[in-house]
Amino acid sequence: MTVQSDLSARLMARIADKRDDLIALTQELIRIPTLNPPGDNYLEICEYLRDRLQPHGFACELIRATGALGDSDKYPRWNIVARREGTRAGDCVHFNSHTDVVEVGTGWTFDPFGGELKDGKIYGRGTCDMKGGLAASIIAAEAFLEECPDFAGAIEISGTADEESGGQGGVAYLAQKGYFAPERVQHVIIPEPLQKDRICLGHRGVWWAEIETFGEIAHGCMPFLGDCAVRHMGAVLEEFEKTLYPALAKRITDMPVVPEGARHSTMNINSIHGGMEEIPADANALPAPCVPDSCRMVIDRRFLVEEPLQQVRDEMTGLLDRLRDSRPNFDYAMREMMHVLPSMTARDAPVVTSIAQSIRDVMGVDAEYIASPGTYDQKHIDRIGKLKNCIAYGPGILEMAHKPDEYIGVDDMIDSAQVMAMSLLDLLKPKG
Ligand SMILES: [Zn+2]
Repeated sequence: MTVQSDLSARLMARIADKRDDLIALTQELIRIPTLNPPGDNYLEICEYLRDRLQPHGFACELIRATGALGDSDKYPRWNIVARREGTRAGDCVHFNSHTDVVEVGTGWTFDPFGGELKDGKIYGRGTCDMKGGLAASIIAAEAFLEECPDFAGAIEISGTADEESGGQGGVAYLAQKGYFAPERVQHVIIPEPLQKDRICLGHRGVWWAEIETFGEIAHGCMPFLGDCAVRHMGAVLEEFEKTLYPALAKRITDMPVVPEGARHSTMNINSIHGGMEEIPADANALPAPCVPDSCRMVIDRRFLVEEPLQQVRDEMTGLLDRLRDSRPNFDYAMREMMHVLPSMTARDAPVVTSIAQSIRDVMGVDAEYIASPGTYDQKHIDRIGKLKNCIAYGPGILEMAHKPDEYIGVDDMIDSAQVMAMSLLDLLKPKG
């Protein structure tokens, strides 16, 4: 046996031995309910992570994203960046996990913040997305440091706020402050639940806009004296069905997006509001008879790396302009709400080839390359941090995210912790 493979074997065994520690760590993270919105307990979870990592030689910074979107004195957006220097100069490998979880919703049979272990799975809100991945990366780093104290470069672990609501008070803030600058960090792994044998290279783009159609108010008994904005919106919907949706379905990307349906351009109609405000179902009242003079629709368009953003915008305004030219009294306004450009890391980037090799070494399979249908914090690391060597890799099943009875498999966490540790061995060149 070579020295290196002997070291690999010891490292894998050490992680397997930490099974109980990994379970307890995941459970304790789940029991800190970091619900977003509103952004509860960010300081508590950062302090917990600091107390965990400091004894392993990590220098820990707690950073509040003061003034960022979502930050307030009542709900401060706290983040932690923990850094462990090696004994020599070299690359820094950074594991970034978001600490927030989405609302619980209904349909649970387990306590969402209990972290119950049953049949090899830990249940709770955030187990899969993504405290299980955070725990796996911590165990990977701790095992590596115990086995290979003499290594080049540095390891960083961050726990960041608000990924579920856009990441402005988390990774975007840290990226603006230089925490992901290429001279500080060279490899980024985001342990989102993409499955332990898959490497996620990036994501599609997002374009949100609000479209408003206009009409003229009149008495509902004489609608011909007014102009119904909801009917105008109906014409927009008809045009979507006739021309836009068929055109989107025909476009297909070379990005390996999963699931298959998301390899096409897609658009969700997020909401439509027209006419009077809705009367609550339990109110003892009737609406007034009025012709709606305004109707607003929010659209959520997901676009491909092959589609320039301007083309996405122009396609929508072109459709609406055609209606204005052809439909009597049709007028509209469009307001862009948000956009995120697609992000795609090259398959031959160092962090990609390293994790692919580690997946082969640990699990004996070839990694599957995927891209995400929705965005995640990679967008900020790419666009603001200017760091291209970034992937999402972590345990858990994506389809479990945000669901009732969310869980993470303990074996999956062990396997992916071993993969992460093997890549630390590869990228940080320990003397052994
Ligand atoms: Zn997530």
